[in-house]
Amino acid sequence: MRTRVNLLDTLIDCVDADQAVAQIDAFVQSKRPHHVVTANVDFLRLASQDAGFQGIVNDADLVLADGMPLVWASRRRSTPLPCRVTGVDMIMACAQLAVKRGYSIFLLGAAPGVAYETAEVLQQRFPGLRIAGTYSPPSAEMADHDDDVCVRMVRAAQPDLLFVAFGAPKQEHWIRAHQATLNVPVCMGVGGSFDMLAGNVRRAPVWIQRHGLEWLYRLAQEPRRLWKRYIVHDLPVFVRLMRQSRDGATVPQPASRPWLVEETLAESAFREPARKGDSGAKRSEIPVGAGRSA
Ligand code: UDP
Repeated sequence: MRTRVNLLDTLIDCVDADQAVAQIDAFVQSKRPHHVVTANVDFLRLASQDAGFQGIVNDADLVLADGMPLVWASRRRSTPLPCRVTGVDMIMACAQLAVKRGYSIFLLGAAPGVAYETAEVLQQRFPGLRIAGTYSPPSAEMADHDDDVCVRMVRAAQPDLLFVAFGAPKQEHWIRAHQATLNVPVCMGVGGSFDMLAGNVRRAPVWIQRHGLEWLYRLAQEPRRLWKRYIVHDLPVFVRLMRQSRDGATVPQPASRPWLVEETLAESAFREPARKGDSGAKRSEIPVGAGRSA
């Protein structure tokens, strides 16, 4: 059963990384489009200010807790979040899954060239990984034209998994707007994960991550970009979140998107990949770099 915890009216799935990967595997095998969100305190802030964004997150098929404060806040609930599940770790776990199953992935977003660099890093780390394509749109504020280009590239590449790194809330709105047209089984918003994987931004050491101080580490690296987000915008939300957790407030959880594929989950672990064998004929594989925008 899908179990979610309500944090400031945003619903987060109670899963660890292994359960998330198993669910993503089932999503791919279902061949229907699914939206995966990697949420942190900034998402809760954005959601509390924008009902549209909150609706997108609460309607998503899987919402992961990509922030220790979410885990801390859940600990006094009857259904605490088991652990943090980060976007970076999910990309790597999905890359491993993709090699095992023969799935292909598409990397979309970040600054020009970064998606391509990320693909190279992943291919080195996971030999045999099929990259359906990469594309980093040239401008931060995408014009309609760029939007069309992104959609056409992804549609042509037909990946099994699409990682979108436009930052929140843009990536979630983009996935929601184009999900049906793209017809990709798994679309996941991953924020600044490509920058970390490509090595443009250093990831915090594990002990810093475990203590929930990764935001401080990121702030030290990019103070100009992040001080307002973390100190001005997110700190008051963090305080509200901890107060809600102390009060133990709960709100009924809407079940608009139950895991329709959950009954296939156990089977899927033992089944051959659904798309095995049709990769050569039907699926146009774009070599890494074909979509490089630079
Ligand atoms: N980005 C983008 N297009 C935009 C805005 C941002 O491709 O219009 C990219 C940006 O280059 C960075 C990521 O989106 O790689 C944003 O990362 P951010 O740090 O905001 O996300 P977080 O990891 O904090 O959720």
